Amino acid sequence: MSAEAVKRPDRQPDASTVKQPYEAVIGLEVHAQLRTRTKMFCGCSTAFGARPNTQTCPVCQGMPGTLPVINRRAVEFGIKTALAINCTVNADNRFARKHYYYPDMPKNYQISQYEEPLAEHGHLDITTADGMRRIGIQRLHLEEDVGKLVHEGTLETALSSQVDFNRAGVPLMEIVSKPDLRTSEEAAAYLKALRAILVYLDVCDGNMEEGSLRCDANISLRHAGAKEFGTKVEIKNMNSFKNVQHALDYEIKRQARALDTGERIVQETRLWDPDRAHTVSMRSKEFAHDYRYFPEPDLPPLDVAAAWIDRIRGTLPELPAARRQRFMMAYTLSPYDAEVATSSKALADYFETAAQGSRNPKTVANWVLNEVLRVVPPDDEKAIAACPITPAALQELIGLIEDGTISGRIAKDVFDKMLASGEGARVIVAREGLTQVADASELGAVVDNVLSTHAKVVEDYKAGKKAALGFLVGQVMKWTSGKASPAVVNALLLEKLPKL
Ligand SMILES: [Zn+2]
Repeated sequence: MSAEAVKRPDRQPDASTVKQPYEAVIGLEVHAQLRTRTKMFCGCSTAFGARPNTQTCPVCQGMPGTLPVINRRAVEFGIKTALAINCTVNADNRFARKHYYYPDMPKNYQISQYEEPLAEHGHLDITTADGMRRIGIQRLHLEEDVGKLVHEGTLETALSSQVDFNRAGVPLMEIVSKPDLRTSEEAAAYLKALRAILVYLDVCDGNMEEGSLRCDANISLRHAGAKEFGTKVEIKNMNSFKNVQHALDYEIKRQARALDTGERIVQETRLWDPDRAHTVSMRSKEFAHDYRYFPEPDLPPLDVAAAWIDRIRGTLPELPAARRQRFMMAYTLSPYDAEVATSSKALADYFETAAQGSRNPKTVANWVLNEVLRVVPPDDEKAIAACPITPAALQELIGLIEDGTISGRIAKDVFDKMLASGEGARVIVAREGLTQVADASELGAVVDNVLSTHAKVVEDYKAGKKAALGFLVGQVMKWTSGKASPAVVNALLLEKLPKL
Protein backbone atom coordinates (compact mmCIF):
# COMPACT_ATOMS: atom_id res chain seq x y z
CA MET A 1 0.00 0.00 0.00
CA SER A 2 1.34 3.42 -0.80
CA ALA A 3 2.29 5.74 2.01
CA GLU A 4 -0.37 8.12 0.77
CA ALA A 5 -3.22 5.69 1.23
CA VAL A 6 -5.67 6.51 3.92
CA LYS A 7 -5.80 3.18 5.69
CA ARG A 8 -3.46 3.41 8.66
CA PRO A 9 -4.25 0.67 11.12
CA ASP A 10 -1.70 2.01 13.59
CA ARG A 11 -3.24 5.48 13.72
CA GLN A 12 -6.94 4.85 13.40
CA PRO A 13 -8.51 2.66 16.02
CA ASP A 14 -11.46 1.52 13.97
CA ALA A 15 -9.62 1.28 10.68
CA SER A 16 -10.56 -2.42 10.64
CA THR A 17 -14.04 -1.34 9.59
CA VAL A 18 -12.54 0.31 6.49
CA LYS A 19 -12.62 -2.39 3.84
CA GLN A 20 -11.10 -0.59 0.89
CA PRO A 21 -8.00 1.52 0.77
CA TYR A 22 -9.06 5.02 -0.16
CA GLU A 23 -6.99 8.02 -0.97
CA ALA A 24 -8.01 11.34 0.52
CA VAL A 25 -7.94 14.43 -1.69
CA ILE A 26 -7.65 17.54 0.42
CA GLY A 27 -7.45 21.23 -0.43
CA LEU A 28 -7.22 24.04 2.12
CA GLU A 29 -8.66 27.53 2.01
CA VAL A 30 -6.83 29.76 4.43
CA HIS A 31 -8.14 33.17 5.45
CA ALA A 32 -5.58 35.53 6.94
CA GLN A 33 -6.46 38.89 8.47
CA LEU A 34 -3.89 41.38 7.29
CA ARG A 35 -1.98 43.46 9.81
CA THR A 36 -2.88 46.81 8.35
CA ARG A 37 -3.78 49.63 10.71
CA THR A 38 -7.01 50.38 8.90
CA LYS A 39 -9.74 48.38 7.20
CA MET A 40 -9.86 47.18 3.58
CA PHE A 41 -12.13 49.93 2.22
CA CYS A 42 -12.36 52.60 4.95
CA GLY A 43 -10.16 54.30 7.55
CA CYS A 44 -11.53 52.47 10.63
CA SER A 45 -9.05 50.85 13.01
CA THR A 46 -8.50 47.09 12.82
CA ALA A 47 -7.30 46.73 16.44
CA PHE A 48 -8.57 43.55 18.08
CA GLY A 49 -10.55 43.57 21.32
CA ALA A 50 -12.10 47.06 21.26
CA ARG A 51 -15.63 47.60 22.62
CA PRO A 52 -18.22 46.34 20.12
CA ASN A 53 -19.15 48.73 17.31
CA THR A 54 -16.66 51.43 18.31
CA GLN A 55 -14.55 50.91 15.18
CA THR A 56 -17.13 51.49 12.47
CA CYS A 57 -18.15 54.13 9.97
CA PRO A 58 -20.85 54.45 7.29
CA VAL A 59 -18.66 52.51 4.79
CA CYS A 60 -18.14 49.39 6.90
CA GLN A 61 -21.70 49.60 8.21
CA GLY A 62 -22.89 49.31 4.64
CA MET A 63 -24.79 52.60 4.49
CA PRO A 64 -26.27 53.43 1.08
CA GLY A 65 -24.40 56.06 -0.87
CA THR A 66 -20.98 55.42 0.67
CA LEU A 67 -18.01 54.51 -1.51
CA PRO A 68 -15.18 52.10 -0.72
CA VAL A 69 -11.50 53.04 -1.22
CA ILE A 70 -8.89 50.28 -1.63
CA ASN A 71 -6.30 50.04 1.16
CA ARG A 72 -2.94 50.25 -0.61
CA ARG A 73 -1.08 48.57 2.24
CA ALA A 74 -3.44 45.56 2.08
CA VAL A 75 -2.67 45.12 -1.61
CA GLU A 76 1.04 45.40 -0.85
CA PHE A 77 0.74 42.67 1.82
CA GLY A 78 -1.15 40.51 -0.66
CA ILE A 79 1.58 40.93 -3.28
CA LYS A 80 4.28 40.26 -0.71
CA THR A 81 2.63 36.99 0.28
CA ALA A 82 1.99 36.05 -3.34
CA LEU A 83 5.70 36.43 -4.13
CA ALA A 84 6.70 34.42 -1.05
CA ILE A 85 4.54 31.49 -2.17
CA ASN A 86 5.73 31.67 -5.76
CA CYS A 87 2.51 33.03 -7.29
CA THR A 88 2.20 35.12 -10.42
CA VAL A 89 0.78 38.53 -9.56
CA ASN A 90 -1.87 39.57 -12.07
CA ALA A 91 -1.22 43.04 -13.43
CA ASP A 92 -4.95 43.45 -14.00
CA ASN A 93 -7.18 42.29 -11.27
CA ARG A 94 -10.51 43.31 -10.01
CA PHE A 95 -12.85 43.24 -7.04
CA ALA A 96 -16.26 41.58 -7.29
CA ARG A 97 -19.43 41.47 -5.28
CA LYS A 98 -20.30 38.17 -3.69
CA HIS A 99 -23.95 38.22 -2.73
CA TYR A 100 -25.49 36.44 0.19
CA TYR A 101 -27.60 37.42 3.15
CA TYR A 102 -26.32 37.11 6.68
CA PRO A 103 -26.87 39.49 9.60
CA ASP A 104 -23.13 40.00 10.14
CA MET A 105 -22.82 41.61 6.71
CA PRO A 106 -24.79 44.85 6.42
CA LYS A 107 -24.40 45.35 2.64
CA ASN A 108 -25.73 41.84 1.90
CA TYR A 109 -22.72 41.38 -0.31
CA GLN A 110 -19.06 41.00 0.43
CA ILE A 111 -16.44 42.73 -1.67
CA SER A 112 -14.13 39.94 -2.74
CA GLN A 113 -12.28 38.87 -5.87
CA TYR A 114 -13.60 36.23 -8.21
CA GLU A 115 -12.52 35.77 -11.82
CA GLU A 116 -9.54 38.10 -11.65
CA PRO A 117 -7.76 37.45 -8.34
CA LEU A 118 -4.64 39.29 -7.22
CA ALA A 119 -2.37 36.29 -7.80
CA GLU A 120 -2.40 32.68 -9.04
CA HIS A 121 -0.38 29.53 -9.75
CA GLY A 122 2.02 29.31 -6.84
CA HIS A 123 3.40 26.53 -4.72
CA LEU A 124 4.64 25.79 -1.26
CA ASP A 125 7.08 23.01 -0.31
CA ILE A 126 6.28 21.12 2.85
CA THR A 127 8.28 18.56 4.80
CA THR A 128 6.43 15.29 5.38
CA ALA A 129 7.39 11.91 6.81
CA ASP A 130 8.18 10.85 3.23
CA GLY A 131 10.32 13.88 2.45
CA MET A 132 9.63 17.13 0.65
CA ARG A 133 6.31 17.58 -1.17
CA ARG A 134 5.31 20.48 -3.39
CA ILE A 135 1.74 21.67 -2.84
CA GLY A 136 0.20 23.79 -5.56
CA ILE A 137 -1.44 27.11 -4.74
CA GLN A 138 -4.38 27.89 -6.97
CA ARG A 139 -5.00 31.51 -6.08
CA LEU A 140 -4.59 34.33 -3.61
CA HIS A 141 -7.20 37.04 -3.41
CA LEU A 142 -8.22 39.95 -1.22
CA GLU A 143 -11.58 40.57 0.39
CA GLU A 144 -13.19 42.12 3.46
CA ASP A 145 -14.01 40.31 6.67
CA VAL A 146 -17.57 40.25 7.97
CA GLY A 147 -18.86 41.30 11.40
CA LYS A 148 -19.16 39.00 14.34
CA LEU A 149 -22.37 37.62 15.83
CA VAL A 150 -22.43 37.28 19.58
CA HIS A 151 -25.10 34.82 20.70
CA GLU A 152 -26.66 34.85 24.13
CA GLY A 153 -25.77 31.36 25.20
CA THR A 154 -25.19 28.72 22.55
CA LEU A 155 -26.09 29.19 18.90
CA GLU A 156 -28.84 26.56 19.15
CA THR A 157 -30.54 27.91 22.27
CA ALA A 158 -29.87 31.68 22.09
CA LEU A 159 -32.97 33.82 22.48
CA SER A 160 -31.17 36.75 20.94
CA SER A 161 -27.94 37.57 19.16
CA GLN A 162 -26.00 40.78 18.86
CA VAL A 163 -23.72 41.94 16.12
CA ASP A 164 -20.32 43.60 16.40
CA PHE A 165 -19.21 45.37 13.23
CA ASN A 166 -15.67 46.11 14.43
CA ARG A 167 -14.46 43.19 12.36
CA ALA A 168 -16.59 44.08 9.32
CA GLY A 169 -14.24 45.33 6.62
CA VAL A 170 -10.97 44.10 8.13
CA PRO A 171 -8.68 43.16 5.21
CA LEU A 172 -8.70 39.46 4.56
CA MET A 173 -6.48 37.46 2.25
CA GLU A 174 -7.68 34.09 1.04
CA ILE A 175 -5.13 31.54 -0.11
CA VAL A 176 -6.55 28.48 -1.85
CA SER A 177 -4.38 25.41 -2.29
CA LYS A 178 -4.79 22.92 -5.10
CA PRO A 179 -6.29 19.58 -3.99
CA ASP A 180 -2.75 18.22 -3.62
CA LEU A 181 -2.82 17.19 0.02
CA ARG A 182 -3.32 13.49 0.75
CA THR A 183 -3.30 13.07 4.52
CA SER A 184 -4.32 15.04 7.58
CA GLU A 185 -0.64 15.25 8.57
CA GLU A 186 0.18 16.89 5.24
CA ALA A 187 -2.68 19.34 5.71
CA ALA A 188 -1.35 20.32 9.13
CA ALA A 189 2.20 20.61 7.76
CA TYR A 190 0.98 22.85 4.93
CA LEU A 191 -0.94 25.08 7.31
CA LYS A 192 2.07 25.36 9.64
CA ALA A 193 4.40 26.21 6.76
CA LEU A 194 1.98 28.81 5.41
CA ARG A 195 1.43 30.35 8.83
CA ALA A 196 5.19 30.59 9.38
CA ILE A 197 5.58 32.48 6.08
CA LEU A 198 2.77 34.93 6.93
CA VAL A 199 4.36 35.67 10.30
CA TYR A 200 7.87 35.95 8.81
CA LEU A 201 6.45 38.45 6.32
CA ASP A 202 4.71 40.27 9.18
CA VAL A 203 1.50 40.50 7.14
CA CYS A 204 -0.64 38.49 9.61
CA ASP A 205 -0.16 37.73 13.31
CA GLY A 206 -1.12 34.09 12.71
CA ASN A 207 -3.28 33.91 15.82
CA MET A 208 -5.70 31.06 15.15
CA GLU A 209 -7.49 31.37 18.49
CA GLU A 210 -8.41 35.02 17.91
CA GLY A 211 -9.36 34.12 14.36
CA SER A 212 -6.73 36.14 12.51
CA LEU A 213 -5.88 32.92 10.72
CA ARG A 214 -8.71 30.58 9.76
CA CYS A 215 -8.80 27.43 7.75
CA ASP A 216 -11.50 25.56 5.83
CA ALA A 217 -10.86 22.25 4.15
CA ASN A 218 -12.33 20.52 1.13
CA ILE A 219 -12.04 16.79 1.32
CA SER A 220 -13.14 13.85 -0.79
CA LEU A 221 -12.15 10.21 -0.99
CA ARG A 222 -11.43 8.07 -4.02
CA HIS A 223 -10.10 4.60 -4.57
CA ALA A 224 -6.33 4.65 -4.44
CA GLY A 225 -5.03 5.15 -7.96
CA ALA A 226 -8.34 6.48 -9.35
CA LYS A 227 -8.26 9.58 -11.53
CA GLU A 228 -11.69 11.08 -10.82
CA PHE A 229 -12.41 12.98 -7.67
CA GLY A 230 -15.12 11.85 -5.26
CA THR A 231 -17.85 14.12 -3.92
CA LYS A 232 -16.25 16.77 -1.78
CA VAL A 233 -17.30 18.02 1.59
CA GLU A 234 -16.24 21.33 3.08
CA ILE A 235 -15.27 21.48 6.75
CA LYS A 236 -15.32 24.73 8.66
CA ASN A 237 -14.49 25.95 12.14
CA MET A 238 -11.08 24.42 12.75
CA ASN A 239 -9.18 26.94 14.83
CA SER A 240 -5.95 25.07 15.56
CA PHE A 241 -3.49 22.78 13.79
CA LYS A 242 -4.70 19.94 15.98
CA ASN A 243 -8.34 20.60 15.09
CA VAL A 244 -7.52 20.57 11.38
CA GLN A 245 -5.85 17.21 11.73
CA HIS A 246 -8.55 15.70 13.95
CA ALA A 247 -11.41 17.01 11.79
CA LEU A 248 -9.83 15.57 8.64
CA ASP A 249 -9.12 12.22 10.33
CA TYR A 250 -12.72 12.05 11.45
CA GLU A 251 -14.03 13.00 8.02
CA ILE A 252 -11.82 10.45 6.26
CA LYS A 253 -13.23 7.71 8.47
CA ARG A 254 -16.81 8.94 8.05
CA GLN A 255 -16.57 9.08 4.27
CA ALA A 256 -14.77 5.72 4.04
CA ARG A 257 -17.51 4.09 6.07
CA ALA A 258 -20.17 5.70 3.89
CA LEU A 259 -18.46 4.54 0.68
CA ASP A 260 -18.06 1.03 2.08
CA THR A 261 -21.74 0.75 2.84
CA GLY A 262 -22.82 2.31 -0.45
CA GLU A 263 -24.18 5.44 1.20
CA ARG A 264 -24.23 8.55 -0.99
CA ILE A 265 -21.89 11.32 0.09
CA VAL A 266 -23.65 14.66 0.01
CA GLN A 267 -21.83 17.76 -1.18
CA GLU A 268 -22.23 19.94 1.87
CA THR A 269 -20.58 22.16 4.43
CA ARG A 270 -19.88 20.50 7.76
CA LEU A 271 -18.87 22.07 11.01
CA TRP A 272 -16.13 20.60 13.21
CA ASP A 273 -17.19 20.31 16.83
CA PRO A 274 -13.95 19.97 18.82
CA ASP A 275 -15.76 19.15 22.08
CA ARG A 276 -17.65 16.21 20.64
CA ALA A 277 -14.84 15.41 18.16
CA HIS A 278 -17.08 15.04 15.14
CA THR A 279 -18.32 17.01 12.15
CA VAL A 280 -21.96 17.93 11.76
CA SER A 281 -23.84 18.97 8.65
CA MET A 282 -24.30 22.74 8.52
CA ARG A 283 -25.82 23.41 5.12
CA SER A 284 -25.83 22.01 1.64
CA LYS A 285 -22.85 23.37 -0.25
CA GLU A 286 -23.52 26.47 -2.26
CA PHE A 287 -22.02 26.78 -5.72
CA ALA A 288 -20.25 29.83 -7.11
CA HIS A 289 -23.27 30.70 -9.26
CA ASP A 290 -25.40 30.97 -6.12
CA TYR A 291 -23.51 34.10 -5.20
CA ARG A 292 -24.32 36.04 -8.38
CA TYR A 293 -20.82 37.45 -8.58
CA PHE A 294 -20.34 40.56 -10.67
CA PRO A 295 -17.54 43.12 -10.94
CA GLU A 296 -17.71 45.69 -8.11
CA PRO A 297 -19.00 48.85 -9.82
CA ASP A 298 -17.81 51.14 -7.01
CA LEU A 299 -14.14 50.24 -7.47
CA PRO A 300 -11.89 50.63 -10.48
CA PRO A 301 -9.90 47.61 -11.75
CA LEU A 302 -6.73 47.26 -9.73
CA ASP A 303 -3.69 47.84 -11.94
CA VAL A 304 -0.57 46.47 -10.35
CA ALA A 305 2.51 48.03 -11.95
CA ALA A 306 5.50 45.75 -12.56
CA ALA A 307 7.76 48.30 -10.87
CA TRP A 308 5.66 48.11 -7.71
CA ILE A 309 5.94 44.30 -7.68
CA ASP A 310 9.72 44.58 -8.09
CA ARG A 311 9.94 47.08 -5.27
CA ILE A 312 7.98 44.75 -2.98
CA ARG A 313 10.13 41.79 -4.05
CA GLY A 314 13.12 43.76 -2.83
CA THR A 315 11.61 44.01 0.66
CA LEU A 316 11.05 40.27 1.12
CA PRO A 317 12.80 39.07 4.28
CA GLU A 318 14.62 35.77 4.62
CA LEU A 319 11.87 33.13 4.55
CA PRO A 320 11.67 29.92 6.59
CA ALA A 321 13.10 27.66 3.85
CA ALA A 322 16.15 29.88 3.32
CA ARG A 323 16.68 30.27 7.04
CA ARG A 324 16.50 26.49 7.47
CA GLN A 325 19.27 26.06 4.90
CA ARG A 326 21.37 28.76 6.55
CA PHE A 327 20.96 27.18 10.01
CA MET A 328 22.19 23.88 8.59
CA MET A 329 25.22 25.55 7.01
CA ALA A 330 26.13 28.17 9.60
CA TYR A 331 25.33 26.28 12.78
CA THR A 332 25.72 22.67 11.49
CA LEU A 333 22.21 21.77 12.60
CA SER A 334 20.64 18.56 11.32
CA PRO A 335 17.81 19.01 8.81
CA TYR A 336 15.33 18.02 11.51
CA ASP A 337 16.71 20.45 14.10
CA ALA A 338 16.82 23.24 11.51
CA GLU A 339 13.21 22.50 10.60
CA VAL A 340 12.03 22.75 14.20
CA ALA A 341 14.21 25.78 14.97
CA THR A 342 12.67 27.72 12.07
CA SER A 343 9.07 26.62 12.66
CA SER A 344 8.32 30.15 13.76
CA LYS A 345 10.15 33.41 13.34
CA ALA A 346 10.10 33.96 17.10
CA LEU A 347 11.79 30.62 17.80
CA ALA A 348 14.35 31.08 15.03
CA ASP A 349 15.19 34.55 16.37
CA TYR A 350 15.45 33.13 19.89
CA PHE A 351 17.84 30.39 18.80
CA GLU A 352 19.93 32.69 16.68
CA THR A 353 20.33 35.28 19.45
CA ALA A 354 21.35 32.57 21.93
CA ALA A 355 23.74 30.94 19.45
CA GLN A 356 25.47 34.21 18.57
CA GLY A 357 29.10 34.02 19.61
CA SER A 358 28.68 30.51 20.99
CA ARG A 359 31.53 28.07 20.44
CA ASN A 360 29.05 25.25 20.09
CA PRO A 361 25.78 26.26 18.40
CA LYS A 362 24.67 22.62 18.36
CA THR A 363 24.61 22.62 22.17
CA VAL A 364 22.54 25.80 22.07
CA ALA A 365 20.15 24.12 19.61
CA ASN A 366 19.80 21.12 21.94
CA TRP A 367 18.91 23.38 24.84
CA VAL A 368 16.43 25.38 22.81
CA LEU A 369 14.77 22.38 21.18
CA ASN A 370 14.69 20.12 24.25
CA GLU A 371 14.38 22.44 27.23
CA VAL A 372 12.92 25.73 25.98
CA LEU A 373 10.33 23.91 23.84
CA ARG A 374 9.39 21.89 26.91
CA VAL A 375 7.87 25.10 28.31
CA VAL A 376 6.78 27.09 25.22
CA PRO A 377 5.07 25.85 22.03
CA PRO A 378 7.31 26.31 18.93
CA ASP A 379 4.79 28.52 17.11
CA ASP A 380 3.50 30.63 19.97
CA GLU A 381 5.24 33.96 19.32
CA LYS A 382 3.83 35.58 22.45
CA ALA A 383 4.90 32.74 24.75
CA ILE A 384 8.40 32.70 23.24
CA ALA A 385 8.74 36.45 23.67
CA ALA A 386 7.48 36.17 27.26
CA CYS A 387 9.72 33.19 28.17
CA PRO A 388 11.34 34.03 31.54
CA ILE A 389 14.61 32.60 30.22
CA THR A 390 15.79 35.05 27.57
CA PRO A 391 18.34 34.03 24.92
CA ALA A 392 21.01 35.92 26.90
CA ALA A 393 20.07 34.06 30.10
CA LEU A 394 20.29 30.73 28.28
CA GLN A 395 23.66 31.75 26.89
CA GLU A 396 24.89 32.43 30.43
CA LEU A 397 23.68 29.01 31.62
CA ILE A 398 25.37 27.18 28.73
CA GLY A 399 28.53 29.21 29.37
CA LEU A 400 28.64 27.80 32.93
CA ILE A 401 28.56 24.24 31.58
CA GLU A 402 31.17 24.95 28.97
CA ASP A 403 33.66 26.49 31.40
CA GLY A 404 33.17 23.55 33.79
CA THR A 405 31.46 25.54 36.56
CA ILE A 406 28.41 23.24 36.61
CA SER A 407 27.64 19.81 35.23
CA GLY A 408 25.02 19.25 32.54
CA ARG A 409 22.80 17.54 35.06
CA ILE A 410 22.89 20.42 37.51
CA ALA A 411 22.28 22.78 34.60
CA LYS A 412 18.85 21.22 34.04
CA ASP A 413 17.91 21.94 37.66
CA VAL A 414 19.25 25.47 37.33
CA PHE A 415 17.16 25.89 34.16
CA ASP A 416 13.99 24.99 36.07
CA LYS A 417 14.92 27.39 38.87
CA MET A 418 15.57 30.18 36.34
CA LEU A 419 12.17 29.48 34.86
CA ALA A 420 10.42 29.69 38.20
CA SER A 421 12.26 32.73 39.57
CA GLY A 422 13.44 34.64 36.52
CA GLU A 423 16.89 34.85 38.13
CA GLY A 424 20.16 34.41 36.24
CA ALA A 425 22.10 31.13 36.23
CA ARG A 426 25.17 32.61 37.90
CA VAL A 427 23.12 34.00 40.80
CA ILE A 428 21.40 30.67 41.43
CA VAL A 429 24.60 28.61 41.17
CA ALA A 430 26.48 30.90 43.59
CA ARG A 431 23.67 31.05 46.13
CA GLU A 432 22.97 27.33 46.18
CA GLY A 433 26.59 26.20 46.01
CA LEU A 434 26.06 24.18 42.86
CA THR A 435 29.54 24.68 41.48
CA GLN A 436 30.92 21.50 40.02
CA VAL A 437 33.50 19.61 42.06
CA ALA A 438 36.45 18.83 39.83
CA ASP A 439 39.03 18.48 42.56
CA ALA A 440 40.39 14.91 42.39
CA SER A 441 41.39 14.80 46.05
CA GLU A 442 37.90 15.90 47.12
CA LEU A 443 36.25 13.34 44.85
CA GLY A 444 38.71 10.52 45.59
CA ALA A 445 37.10 9.68 48.92
CA VAL A 446 33.63 9.44 47.37
CA VAL A 447 34.95 7.24 44.57
CA ASP A 448 36.58 4.90 47.12
CA ASN A 449 33.34 4.73 49.03
CA VAL A 450 31.34 3.83 45.94
CA LEU A 451 33.85 1.16 44.94
CA SER A 452 33.69 -0.53 48.32
CA THR A 453 29.87 -0.52 48.51
CA HIS A 454 29.54 -1.94 45.00
CA ALA A 455 32.01 -4.80 45.09
CA LYS A 456 29.79 -6.93 42.85
CA VAL A 457 29.77 -4.26 40.14
CA VAL A 458 33.54 -3.97 40.39
CA GLU A 459 33.74 -7.75 39.82
CA ASP A 460 31.51 -7.41 36.76
CA TYR A 461 33.72 -4.68 35.39
CA LYS A 462 36.84 -6.78 35.85
CA ALA A 463 35.07 -9.70 34.17
CA GLY A 464 34.77 -7.52 31.08
CA LYS A 465 31.40 -5.82 31.55
CA LYS A 466 32.46 -2.34 30.53
CA ALA A 467 28.97 -0.89 31.06
CA ALA A 468 29.59 -1.29 34.79
CA LEU A 469 31.79 1.82 34.62
CA GLY A 470 28.81 3.99 33.70
CA PHE A 471 26.90 2.68 36.69
CA LEU A 472 29.78 3.58 39.02
CA VAL A 473 30.06 7.11 37.56
CA GLY A 474 26.31 7.45 38.13
CA GLN A 475 26.69 6.41 41.78
CA VAL A 476 29.37 9.05 42.38
CA MET A 477 27.15 11.67 40.73
CA LYS A 478 24.31 10.60 43.02
CA TRP A 479 26.51 10.85 46.13
CA THR A 480 27.58 14.35 45.18
CA SER A 481 24.03 15.43 44.19
CA GLY A 482 25.20 15.79 40.62
CA LYS A 483 27.97 18.23 41.48
CA ALA A 484 30.94 16.01 40.59
CA SER A 485 32.64 16.57 37.28
CA PRO A 486 31.79 13.41 35.31
CA ALA A 487 35.09 13.63 33.41
CA VAL A 488 37.15 13.74 36.61
CA VAL A 489 35.10 10.89 38.15
CA ASN A 490 35.62 8.82 35.03
CA ALA A 491 39.36 9.38 35.12
CA LEU A 492 39.54 8.53 38.83
CA LEU A 493 37.63 5.29 38.33
CA LEU A 494 39.81 4.22 35.42
CA GLU A 495 42.84 4.87 37.57
CA LYS A 496 41.55 3.03 40.64
CA LEU A 497 39.69 0.04 39.13
CA PRO A 498 42.70 -1.90 37.77
CA LYS A 499 44.35 -1.72 41.20
CA LEU A 500 41.46 -3.46 42.95
ZN1 LIG B 1 -15.29 51.89 8.55
